[in-house]
Amino acid sequence: MRRDSNSPSLLLRNRIANSSGQVGRNFLCHPNAKAIAIYDQDVQAWKGTIQGYQVHEFFDEGLMMATTMVPPGLIAMSLPYIGEQSMAMMEKYNRMVVCGVLVEDTGAGRVTVDLFGEAKMRYDLNDRDTANMIRGVALLAEIYFASGAREVLLPFASLPSIGSVDEIKKIFSHPIPKNEIECLTVHPMGTCRMGLDRKRSVVDSHGESHDVPGLFVADASVFPSPIGVNPQVSIMALAHPHRPAHSRTRGALLHRGLTVNLDRLRR
Ligand SMILES: Cc1cc2nc3c(=O)[nH]c(=O)nc-3n(C[C@H](O)[C@H](O)[C@H](O)COP(=O)(O)OP(=O)(O)OC[C@H]3O[C@@H](n4cnc5c(N)ncnc54)[C@H](O)[C@@H]3O)c2cc1C
Repeated sequence: MRRDSNSPSLLLRNRIANSSGQVGRNFLCHPNAKAIAIYDQDVQAWKGTIQGYQVHEFFDEGLMMATTMVPPGLIAMSLPYIGEQSMAMMEKYNRMVVCGVLVEDTGAGRVTVDLFGEAKMRYDLNDRDTANMIRGVALLAEIYFASGAREVLLPFASLPSIGSVDEIKKIFSHPIPKNEIECLTVHPMGTCRMGLDRKRSVVDSHGESHDVPGLFVADASVFPSPIGVNPQVSIMALAHPHRPAHSRTRGALLHRGLTVNLDRLRR
């Protein structure tokens, strides 16, 4: 069986590049919650590019919203309905818009390895980020109703849907426990963070290990803080073998556990 090989667990297992004790710490992930709008008429939001629309107005508050019209099976799976009720809701697929709220997290988790060397991750959503996520969902509901939505399905077990803009205040009428929020993440970051201070970071500003010359980490684990937007393009830039720091150095490129000897590649 292939072992998991994300950068922090690879370094921790091999007991290298961790004189700072920071490998695996500072785990950030952009916690994400979605809300679904149902319109009276077909909108066919599944047509075109996924995430073709984003709301950037709340960047300063650590919030970004993006349409993420996933296939019917994934939506059905995430709804709090089963059987006929689920079928009835999914018949409205053409009238749905799905949008996620991304929170630029202020809390952090940690990746460790257990006795057998397998990665363990712990992340607790803190109160501030929870409140921000709830506010983001409320803002999204406001946008949906302003654009003519008939109903908004919320990611809260105790308040699964609202039918008008006036009902948005229900979101704030009682505290929503964290374990009642349906949330997810697809942006792990920060566990081999970049920095100038070798006591507080794992790699330098070129992504090179402070401890092991020639060892580069080139994935989202080097982000020193949450970046607040989708990370893929930045990760690709970091991982590009022709970026100046890599090409000037004869060494190894660590890309999520995939260690590529650059010297061998050049031969
Ligand atoms: C559902 C989903 C939707 C997303 N949507 C977006 C989006 O819209 N925009 C965006 O910017 N980001 C998005 N992301 C995030 C983005 O995909 C990741 O942040 C990014 O792919 C991480 O890049 P990476 O190179 O660090 O890791 P990965 O892309 O995970 O690459 C790691 C590679 O290493 C390989 N590997 C692992 N172990 C080994 C081993 N032992 N030996 C050999 N190879 C190995 C894996 O097979 C994989 O190919 C999404 C993520 C998910 C899961």
